[in-house]
Amino acid sequence: MLPKRKLCSFASWWLIAFVNYSATQKYRGRLAPSPTGYLHLGHARTFWMAQLRAKANGGTLVLRNEDLDSTRFKMEFVPAMIEDLRWFGFEWQEGPDCGGPFAPYNQSERMNAYHAALEKLRAGGFIYPCTCSRKDIRRAVRAPQAEDDELIYPGTCRNNAESRMPNDEWQIPSVIRHSSFSWRFRVPDGETISFVDGNCGEQRFVAGKDFGDFVVWRGDGVPAYQLACVADDVAMQITEVVRGADLLVSTARQILLYRALGLTPPAFFHCPLWLDEAGKRLAKRHDALSLRTLRARGETPESLRQNWL
Ligand SMILES: [Zn+2]
Repeated sequence: MLPKRKLCSFASWWLIAFVNYSATQKYRGRLAPSPTGYLHLGHARTFWMAQLRAKANGGTLVLRNEDLDSTRFKMEFVPAMIEDLRWFGFEWQEGPDCGGPFAPYNQSERMNAYHAALEKLRAGGFIYPCTCSRKDIRRAVRAPQAEDDELIYPGTCRNNAESRMPNDEWQIPSVIRHSSFSWRFRVPDGETISFVDGNCGEQRFVAGKDFGDFVVWRGDGVPAYQLACVADDVAMQITEVVRGADLLVSTARQILLYRALGLTPPAFFHCPLWLDEAGKRLAKRHDALSLRTLRARGETPESLRQNWL
């Protein structure tokens, strides 16, 4: 049995912001919101930690607009997002509004980098084409499921790919348009992926049990979160990723991507998720907690942050 992972608690959480990050590189952190709705207080709290950590380490903070999923984001949320962040007191030194040495900072303008990463994974034999629909997967899955609700892929196309590959049928076209298949990363079944999180301590996830083969490129031509995130964090020379604890298992997936691409992962710092009175995660459906609504109600950023330290 593996030791149970430590829970990320709120106790002394904010103090940790000031614990020095122990890398020799100059600290570079990032805020990476998706314009799928108005920012809410839960996001702001995690972002605030990212900002505190960048400031405490005399580092740079990057704003990256994660606007890849055009089925979910709306253009009008981008200026609103920037306005809300500024109102709340966020200060970034590089971003879509102010530029910087690693521009562009809108993911929708960075497709070349994602194509390059995908091609590298394909050439290395780390990924295979998958033609399963969500429905197919649901039907085939019987085993207990991953912690983050992503179904553990039952391996249907992995087995097909092994008997058929390699051939040229699945070459990545120079411009990836909508296709009938996605690309999936083959995880090393049974291997424990461990890392030490700056906030949550040692983490261990077993490939094939806690998470399965994951999509790196969707059938609709959009790079998946895992791939885009890794490609950008590398390109933007991010030294520490601060994000919500719901992404701990994604970090294990991303560590496998770093390894396959021959890259060194950054440090990770996962913040506890903020729950409401009912123990439910603060999510976008809590409209009352959008920064916009709170501002209109006369709240100030200082009043909203007053219990955070
Ligand atoms: Zn499949």
